[in-house]
Amino acid sequence: MRYFSTRNSSLTVSGTEAIIRGLAEDGGLFVPETIPAPDFKLLRTATYQEAAEYILSLFFDELSRDEIHACVQEAYNDRFSDPDIVPLKACGRDYLMELFRGPTCAFKDIALSVLPGLLSTAYRKSGSTDTVAILTATSGDTGKAALAGFADVPHTAIKVYYPENGVSPVQKLQMQTSRGNNVYVRAVQGNFDDCQRLVKQAYRDAAETAAKEHVILSSANSINIGRLVPQIVYYITSYYRLVREGVISDGEEILFAVPTGNFGDILAGYLAKRMGLPVKRLICASNRNRVLTDFLETGTYSRVRPFHETMSPSMDILVSSNLERLLYLITGDDAFTAACMRSLEETGSYTVPPAVLDNIRAVFTGTCTEEENCADVIRNCWQEHGVLVDPHTAVAVYGLEQYRKMSGDDAQAVVLSTASPFKFAHDVLRCLSGEETDDFTAMDRLSEMCGLPIPRSLAELHELPVRFTGSIRASKGMDDVADFLREVSAHV
Ligand SMILES: *Cc1c(COP(=O)(O)O)cnc(C)c1O
Repeated sequence: MRYFSTRNSSLTVSGTEAIIRGLAEDGGLFVPETIPAPDFKLLRTATYQEAAEYILSLFFDELSRDEIHACVQEAYNDRFSDPDIVPLKACGRDYLMELFRGPTCAFKDIALSVLPGLLSTAYRKSGSTDTVAILTATSGDTGKAALAGFADVPHTAIKVYYPENGVSPVQKLQMQTSRGNNVYVRAVQGNFDDCQRLVKQAYRDAAETAAKEHVILSSANSINIGRLVPQIVYYITSYYRLVREGVISDGEEILFAVPTGNFGDILAGYLAKRMGLPVKRLICASNRNRVLTDFLETGTYSRVRPFHETMSPSMDILVSSNLERLLYLITGDDAFTAACMRSLEETGSYTVPPAVLDNIRAVFTGTCTEEENCADVIRNCWQEHGVLVDPHTAVAVYGLEQYRKMSGDDAQAVVLSTASPFKFAHDVLRCLSGEETDDFTAMDRLSEMCGLPIPRSLAELHELPVRFTGSIRASKGMDDVADFLREVSAHV
């Protein structure tokens, strides 16, 4: 399987190269040249690990089955607190797909537990002796999951940039206390988009310097195709679990409601649909930052708008990178995709023609959730169904309700539950009882209330030494990247 850039389909690379590089040299994102058609019979009874092995081997066919097996075992055998890896929980008539049973209690763990193995394997096969330096921008959850995944992985170093005031106190502490000799963390005085812009600029402007220092720049963000493919797996395993439990019949089309920021999680759902999974519709649920809602309504994507900080910080994003992949996958037109991205860079917006918008809207519905709606959902899920949901998940539950009201569509639905409620304990408790306390007291209160244990990785946080403090101005970002590269190359 070859991969090419969304902006130029003649720039092709192997799957392993695509994983190592993260971003195509023209700034585009790698897409597979064909979308594989799995034999779904093999997936009906597969365990999570078996399904992951099979899907990864379809996309990364230069890796042997044994190599992929090893990556999957390493990722999913003992890092997750649930034997199903991604369990389903009933919430009224719907199901929550619990994606937060990994080491950092958010859905990023699913892909970032396996990406380091894939990247190391790809690296070994490449015969390179350079160090892979992973630059990552985070709106809160990717950072910690990537730091946990890459800690002390040989031949790699990782630096995470996060918005100083744009992540929750727990998210910040998770990153500041990261372990590992090859991990670096930096707060940026700005928002997530500033961090993402810095990382993208570094690929463009620092790759040559890096090469001189024997460093290859790569990414753990969902712009890396090695992040995206592992996320296809849970759409498939959840579907077949519902079939096995008799909730749906095999072949019945269902809805997935996805709390969306950078459009990576939902794009994996779209790929699952294109691979043949019976997906009726994907609900793209945004918080107050309704840039995607507006795009899906009007066909104009405009990041020129106020940025809101919300209770669902991992979705406080104005430039959803993976939408670029959708534009390409819908149109098959690299020049069109490149023109949209150029316009976004130069003017802050682009507009797709009505026919393209129709094709997107045939699959996606956009919804937007105000903070008070989010709070209502958190309260209702608890009071009516005895289920605690985090604010990101609540945004998707609300999106599903809105979609059902607008459309009358009664299909079975699965809501992607992307973070543990304990990770956002302060806000969840405030929504439930009006109490204002710090996160750790709130964790205790929630634990008593719902009779569930606090995930250990969160409970132990305030005992760990803080390693990374201080912040930089966004304008000093490239200097900081240069320091990082020098440090990494001095280490080899
Ligand atoms: C990252 C994240 C999201 C958004 O996922 P995207 O792939 O960026 O759209 C939603 N919820 C949580 C908890 C996250 O960490």
